[in-house]
Amino acid sequence: MQNILLLGSCEGAGAEDIEQMIRIENVSKWYGDFQVLKNCSTSVKKGEVVVICGPSGSGKSTLIKTVNGLEDYQEGTIYVNNINIGDPHTNLPKLRAHVGMVFQHFELFPHLTIRNNLTLAQMKVLKRSRDQANKRGMELLDRVGLIKQADKFPPQLSGGQQQRVAIARALAMDPICMLFDEPTSALDPEMINEVLDVMINLAKDGMTMMVVTHEMGFARKVADRVVFMDAGEIVEEAPKEEFFSTPRSERAQRFLAKIL
Ligand code: ADP
Ligand code: MG
Repeated sequence: MQNILLLGSCEGAGAEDIEQMIRIENVSKWYGDFQVLKNCSTSVKKGEVVVICGPSGSGKSTLIKTVNGLEDYQEGTIYVNNINIGDPHTNLPKLRAHVGMVFQHFELFPHLTIRNNLTLAQMKVLKRSRDQANKRGMELLDRVGLIKQADKFPPQLSGGQQQRVAIARALAMDPICMLFDEPTSALDPEMINEVLDVMINLAKDGMTMMVVTHEMGFARKVADRVVFMDAGEIVEEAPKEEFFSTPRSERAQRFLAKIL
């Protein structure tokens, strides 16, 4: 976590804001003629939980992937911990190592044990010894309630268990923030809560989180703000109470009527 400070310098007078972990400023992206992100701006303060929701195809995955450089963009600026990720001098792989990402499909290595899934990147990227990596990995596996599964292989675990391992694996890298893209939408209903509970605890522990989800129960419990996207635009952004009780836009009202 500490060496994130060495990643690069922030450029531009007055660009720095120590409170903000993620700043997305006027970001636009096109696939050919199709504009997938339209002048999107939002931010996440350190320790904040921001939920992004909106209809399928509205650009949520694309937006969250721009934050750790998995998707590029043609206009705008994104800062993570005051590092401009679009700056060619930014060490993107190094930054990415410290921005945890959990996807819809738990992308564990199927041929590695849970233990080795948890230690591999710690040793390769963070240069931790096997012992150090194992100690950290097992602490986190315990935290997600799966310590007994350490020497099993991913296909031997349920979907919910695999997703909890994926979260532990991301946490093992000591992330400065966590990005989640619909982490429960591929799970059987009975497994959703075990994953949300891990995320709720993480939020309560003060992790900075940007979460694409339609789980409005989660949003109500831990989100500080809700961002609503439609057709590539951030249509509305509000504290959760306000978003749920009095959504301003007709598009958000229609969306909420469908999912609540
Ligand atoms: P969401 O996560 O909100 O469902 P996405 O960010 O996945 O939305 O996609 C937003 C839009 O961009 C969709 O219309 C999708 O079809 C389109 N899209 C996504 N990836 C590509 C691509 N590689 N090429 C062209 N269009 C894409
Ligand atoms: Mg998506």
